[in-house]
Amino acid sequence: MIPYGRQDITQADIDAVVSVLESDFLTQGPVVPRFEETVAAHVGAKHALAVNSATSALHIACIALGVGAGDLLWTSPITFVASANCGLYCGAEVDFVDIDSSTYNLCPKALEAKLLSAEKAGRLPKVVVAVHLCGQPCDMASIHALGQRFGFKIIEDASHAIGGKYRNEFIGNCRYSDITVLSFHPVKIITTAEGGMALTNNDALAARMALLRSHGITRDVSLMTHDSDGPWYYQQVDLGFNYRMTELQAALGVSQMQRLDTYVARRHELAKQYDTFLKDLPLVTPWQHPDSYSGLHLYVIRLQLEQVGKTHREIFEALRAQGIGVNLHYIPVHTQPYYEQMGFKKGDFPAAEQYYAEAISLPMYQTLPDAQQDEVVDALKKVLIG
Ligand SMILES: *Cc1c(COP(=O)(O)O)cnc(C)c1O
Repeated sequence: MIPYGRQDITQADIDAVVSVLESDFLTQGPVVPRFEETVAAHVGAKHALAVNSATSALHIACIALGVGAGDLLWTSPITFVASANCGLYCGAEVDFVDIDSSTYNLCPKALEAKLLSAEKAGRLPKVVVAVHLCGQPCDMASIHALGQRFGFKIIEDASHAIGGKYRNEFIGNCRYSDITVLSFHPVKIITTAEGGMALTNNDALAARMALLRSHGITRDVSLMTHDSDGPWYYQQVDLGFNYRMTELQAALGVSQMQRLDTYVARRHELAKQYDTFLKDLPLVTPWQHPDSYSGLHLYVIRLQLEQVGKTHREIFEALRAQGIGVNLHYIPVHTQPYYEQMGFKKGDFPAAEQYYAEAISLPMYQTLPDAQQDEVVDALKKVLIG
């Protein structure tokens, strides 16, 4: 089976991890800060906090932004559940904004319309989570302008997007957001096995997230309520978690970062080839906004089912049967049973549901050989046009 995504582990990665195993620190040593500095410098953010997953990063980002009971968090229905769950962790309510039918990202026009009615109802969101689906950045300038006008904070969920750019600047520099979150799960662009990161240019947010990552405990006397009792002393000044990244993970991350640009370039090469090979088939290839240089975590096609005498599911299963590990990103979050019990139902976000009825993620990862990409294309041709 050709998978839809997979990690690339080199001898340099293995050596980096082994050298940590032979060192004094497996956790809370020098390599996590080195990884943070490496990513922050690459993307152009002031602060980077490495954590054990993007889910954890989203959680502490929400707390740092003051999300709590009675608040609202809005995001796109076409995302991984974690982009929405972070609001629920904080006791907030979650709602969704439908997608733009060409980028599949949260639609700024739908956002504006929803904000106007929310303003009338006195129920404006505290935070909007903008998800850069497939690695293509959202229309951040518009979302940011709406944030200024309606007073909400912005988290970019860039789990798909490290190495991508928006208006010629790296995603992660937080020019249009308060916090940007990255994921280093093995299917993503670079990996630390499990891992995530929160990026911000705001000193106070960075300090709060640093506390939340490790139990709310500090050894910094300036944050304590009284002078230190002695060299052993620490204080718990907030209610935090154990969301720390290990030194092993960070070493893998530093090593993977050396190849980020070549990874993204190879993904672009593959995407261009797919665009060419698939252009006469009854499907829509991913449209890219001119402001965008995608990280290209995913390559999603949309089937033009009225031109094919088969269902979405039949096509998906036929591809799997031919050894093509296609996938579907994502099931609209509002149709998950956990969200349906909050009152969401099918029909609430029609553009997202239409997308879900047609979308298929094709294999897309840096080490996918051209010959295997050809197999994917041949299988698609066979299934769609016989
Ligand atoms: C993968 C992913 C996450 C969660 O990442 P983890 O590191 O596995 O917690 C969150 N949001 C999106 C959009 C993702 O794709």
